[in-house]
Formats: sequence, structure tokens, C-alpha cells
Amino acid sequence: MIRTSLPHVFRPSPNIEPRKGGVKPDILLVHYTEMESAQAACDWLCDPASKVSCHYLVDEDGSIVQMVDEAMRAWHAGASSWQGESDINSRSIGIEIQNPGPRFGYRAFPDVQMRAVIALSKDIIARNSIRPERVLAHSDVAPGRKIDPGALFDWHLLHEEGIGHWVAPAPIDDGAGLMAGDSGSEVERLQSVLAGYGYGLPVTGIFDARTTAVVSAFQLHFRQERVDGIADRSTVETLDRLVAALDQVRSAGGGRQVQSR
Ligand SMILES: [Zn+2]
Repeated sequence: MIRTSLPHVFRPSPNIEPRKGGVKPDILLVHYTEMESAQAACDWLCDPASKVSCHYLVDEDGSIVQMVDEAMRAWHAGASSWQGESDINSRSIGIEIQNPGPRFGYRAFPDVQMRAVIALSKDIIARNSIRPERVLAHSDVAPGRKIDPGALFDWHLLHEEGIGHWVAPAPIDDGAGLMAGDSGSEVERLQSVLAGYGYGLPVTGIFDARTTAVVSAFQLHFRQERVDGIADRSTVETLDRLVAALDQVRSAGGGRQVQSR
């Protein structure tokens, strides 16, 4: 049984199975619950009828519930892909963060909750050797279908704590952008950079609905000030900086070591 070493309650979910192909988790996937309370979320994630589950749930007061052994496959990602891999559940450990979400009133994540998310993430990352660029939002792996944990989730704070790959977004200006209906080599370049980073996006040279969805997903994680699916100058520059920073990390011989506190 692989459990967090942090204080927690263990409430086992029946919605589990072995990881397919015996793969080890190398993605940390972040969600919000979109439920009215953590208790309601916990009940749902432990209900055999729901067919969903998650390894951890972090309430707004910072308390942690573990529901699934990290060695097991939980059911939180759904139809997803990253870096060409589609069985994200087998490859990931999932954290559900209590937030009512747009259905019940999306709101800021309290500081005490973020502190617990940070401590838990450090613990999971250290134990599973998860690389910074594989700490992902549900929206990253399921663009157009999922938007959690959304534009209020503080990826910058996580990065300051040594969690995840992130760069400061380029400022928004009046620079023209690529958008739905555009086509050509610039669109092709944008798509290939997004796909190269990991997003599930065919490189067609046509700015289609899928491209809008992926650009929105990118903005939800990396340029949260404006999430509109338009690849404006700030969005493209932020993406280019992000990829360049990743190349630097890789050429330096691996990611930063995250210390558990
Ligand atoms: Zn989710």
C-alpha cells in the first residue's frame, strides 16, 4: 500500500484496477472537484456507480483524504492524451482539489488548501520521480472537454515551490493573433510547438476548433489573464519561452530535485 506520509484520512474507493502494462506513474494530474463540498466529492469518488475515483482529495481547509493506493490505477482522467499517450490513468496520480467549480460557483483556492496541495505534490513527486513538465492540469490532457483546475489555480506559486514547469507569461499587448479560420505556415508552426510540448493536436496548418481548444487549455495553465483560444503575441511568446526553458532544463541534465518538507 503506497500512501502519502502526510497526515490524512484513508477512505478506500472501489473504483480501481491495476495500472495497465504495469507502468509506473510519471504524471501528476491536478483537478478540481466541481462539487458543493469535499464530503459530496468523496462520496461520489467512492460510489461504485460513479465509475470515477482519484488518489487524493484536498479540502478547502487543507485536510487530505487518500482514496486509492498510488500503485493502483484510479479513474479520473477519462478520454485524454499527452505526448501521444492516451492511457493517462495508468500513467498518473490524480489529486482532486475541492472547489465548487463553474457549476456551483468557481472561487479562489484558499491559501491553507494550496499549502496542502504543495506539500502533497512534493511528497508524490519525490516518491515517484515525476519530472516538472509532467505536472499537468486535467485541461492539458483533455482540451475542449475539461477546464479544471481552471484559471484561478496558482501554477506560479507551485513553480516557486519547485513543482511543475512554468515561465512568467509574456505581457498582453495589441499584437495580432492567429485565430479560428486562419491557416498557413504560422498556424502549422504553432500547432507543431503545442503538439511537441505534449498537447493532443494534429498539425494541419488549419486553425480549427481543436486548435482553439488546445490554445485555451494552454492559456488556462500558462497565460491565465485571458483565456480566449486566440493565439495572440503574448500566448505564442509564452509558449516559445516555456519550450526554450524546458530545453535548458534538459540540456542541464534533468529537472530540479524537489525536496519534501
Ligand atoms: Zn478533472
